[in-house]
Amino acid sequence: MITATSRRFFVLVHILASPKKAFSSPSSDPNCTSSGHNLAYVNIGNNPEGHKPLMMAWMCSGKTHKEMVDRLASAGIIKASINKEAMLSVDRRNYVIDTSRAYDDSPQPIGYGATISAPHMHAHALEELLPPLSRASRDEPTRPLRILDVGCGSGYLTAVFGRMVRPKVMYDERKSPLPSLSRSVPKLNDGKVFGIDVIPQLVQMSKTNMMKEDGDLIDSNTVEFAVGDGWKGYPGGSPYNAIHVGAAAATFPIELMKQLAVGGVMFVPVGPEHGEQYLYRVERVDDRGQVVGLVGSDESRGFHEEDYRIRRVLGVRYVPLVRTD
Ligand code: SAH
Repeated sequence: MITATSRRFFVLVHILASPKKAFSSPSSDPNCTSSGHNLAYVNIGNNPEGHKPLMMAWMCSGKTHKEMVDRLASAGIIKASINKEAMLSVDRRNYVIDTSRAYDDSPQPIGYGATISAPHMHAHALEELLPPLSRASRDEPTRPLRILDVGCGSGYLTAVFGRMVRPKVMYDERKSPLPSLSRSVPKLNDGKVFGIDVIPQLVQMSKTNMMKEDGDLIDSNTVEFAVGDGWKGYPGGSPYNAIHVGAAAATFPIELMKQLAVGGVMFVPVGPEHGEQYLYRVERVDDRGQVVGLVGSDESRGFHEEDYRIRRVLGVRYVPLVRTD
């Protein structure tokens, strides 16, 4: 039944979807180059040719973390100041294996067939997921935000989400000359970020990486990691204001969609392993079906596709969201 629903759903989405170029504005930075099409730099962990990109939308590499983030911002890929500040405060060097390439705008192998995504893909995910977080903070200023990062891999994006809800307050000026948080940067509610991955060693890697310079996120219980299957989501933390999926689902992950709060948004690549994959922005607009995680929610209400508004964002190539059953 789920398969039939999701097939119908997929067809509906393809009819409704309006493809758009995610990075269509020309770069003002000569170091960020555009390939002129909308297939983004991708996770290709199992590619026998290594990690050579098939195609690339942008190249915003830097010699330092700050330079890389500045280039992403001057290319218009990072737009919101809160995203820029959050990304600046999590040094990518702590989340890669080959630190000599830490600031390359490319995916990199992290073992177990997985890759840390290219910085421009992380930036793009942040831009898509900030609006529901801002809206929820404005509408209910005392309610903690809930964010789920499926396929946390290196832990980098989980850490950046953590910094969006718990900014780094103390910078060591001698070690990392980062600007202090500007007062004009709008603040999100406090919140909790859950990072899950199906590979236990990668969950451990996420924790180890985070402990290097972002350990306060774990100590303060802002970030929690767990081994888990993204197809099933992580009901314990739901309902979520934002869900990021870092691997391509063959069909829309319905159990995960049910874990979105009304107003919540999921950023998810969908498509077959070696076929056409697209990134989708899935927004939950109603609750005719079940909202998992709400006290007193009615399990019998099931899944209603009318609860979701879906937009196709861009073509991508990701490693598959593997099935465990
Ligand atoms: N966001 C990560 C991307 C890692 S690559 C980063 O930038 O570092 C994709 C990840 O998805 C891998 O770590 C892989 O183990 C994980 N993954 C694949 N199938 C999964 C599933 N069913 N549930 C949870 N994680 C999954």
